[in-house]
Amino acid sequence: MGLVVQKYGGSSVADAEGIKRVAKRIVDAKKNGNQVVVVVSAMGDTTDELIDLAGQVSPIPAGREFDMLLTAGERISMALLAMAIKNLGHEAQSFTGSQAGVITDSVHNKARIIDVTPGRIRTALDEGNIAIVAGFQGVSQDKKDITTLGRGGSDTTAVALAAALDAEVCEIYTDVDGVFTADPRVVKKARKIDWISFEDMLELAASGSKVLLHRCVEYARRYNIPIHVRSSFSGLRGTWVSNEPQGDQKVEHAIISGVAHDVSEAKITVVGVPDKPGEAAAIFRTIANAEINIDMVVQNVSAASTGLTDISFTLPKAEGRKAIDALERNRGTIGFESLRYDDQIAKISLVGAGMKTNPGVTAGFFEALSDAGVNIELISTSEIRISVVTRADDVIEAVRAVHTAFGLDSDSDEAVVYGGTGR
Ligand code: ADP
Ligand code: ASP
Ligand code: MG
Repeated sequence: MGLVVQKYGGSSVADAEGIKRVAKRIVDAKKNGNQVVVVVSAMGDTTDELIDLAGQVSPIPAGREFDMLLTAGERISMALLAMAIKNLGHEAQSFTGSQAGVITDSVHNKARIIDVTPGRIRTALDEGNIAIVAGFQGVSQDKKDITTLGRGGSDTTAVALAAALDAEVCEIYTDVDGVFTADPRVVKKARKIDWISFEDMLELAASGSKVLLHRCVEYARRYNIPIHVRSSFSGLRGTWVSNEPQGDQKVEHAIISGVAHDVSEAKITVVGVPDKPGEAAAIFRTIANAEINIDMVVQNVSAASTGLTDISFTLPKAEGRKAIDALERNRGTIGFESLRYDDQIAKISLVGAGMKTNPGVTAGFFEALSDAGVNIELISTSEIRISVVTRADDVIEAVRAVHTAFGLDSDSDEAVVYGGTGR
């Protein structure tokens, strides 16, 4: 008998009907002879609604209480799902992240999993139950406080449990048929990918393809857990994410895997920084001490007359206030003239291992953007990715132009989006 971990995202359990539909799928997996562990997200946009609510009572909610609030969303869906399964005549038990043995560090709102001890899940399975686990949450090792893993964290819960339970596969059920060459909400002609390597999926996820969370792919690669991303609304086979394609998983030898976009970042420019050793270190130490992750960094050449330069970097919008406050507090020691904050930016990335060996990809990318009249503000590259920052208003046009320019448009059916609000 195999053990499968299935994760259902918020759009798959958006209402009572969705919960009943998902319950049937889970029961089918059990009837097929599997032991089934299910990780479930909060219903629909519940997490966003809880965040809005917190904002109405406090501009900067305390991390511990914020986590306590957000984990309530997953508790609702896990209990309802267990009830719906029981109603179909099968045994199910729901568990919070803490009960499931998801142990984290104590960084509230973006805790990292440091251990998984799924003893209670094993027992529940051995007793013939379907185990339902609340996604995106754990308990801190030192203080025993409830933590959350950051937005989209249920994907990580699922892979972490799959690794700890030595599952055959981690199935991620969502509102599209798999991983596409671009977000199907933006590019109707996006193509479903049959198989993608961990390497390319990591870059797509890091670049904003929220169909899988970056940390979840990282975890899956480390423990070599194959992921099957598919729709909970259709019976279609989805996208396999793994080290090597297996069996009849089709591999297209495309140079480019896909185009990702991200509108969740902002840009901070530190204006008038003395061009001397130690300045960049002081700026980024300040940001790191505030526990903020940055993405792209660009330093301009200094003006000869003043010896001053500007340094720009991007970071999650949600961390913008904190970063500005931290830099302002240290203005005296760092020494800069002013700060500029811009949250009307978008990042567009082209990803594919094939670009390592194919000259001209960068040029083709920039030409496509220029033909679409899109101005580039920042550029960063890795071996298998090129990213640019543009105005947020240009993002849709830019993604479509690049997708077409690299021959990724599908000539068959349009990509289907089954549910969700895209929020
Ligand atoms: P869930 O609630 O199931 O976790 P998410 O909203 O987090 O779902 O992720 C699914 C969404 O990811 C899709 O509805 C789609 O809009 C978006 N998405 C972005 N890039 C891609 C891509 N390359 N392939 C598929 N979906 C993508
Ligand atoms: N409910 C959480 C969120 O919306 C976690 C998740 O869905 O993965 O971010
Ligand atoms: Mg998600």
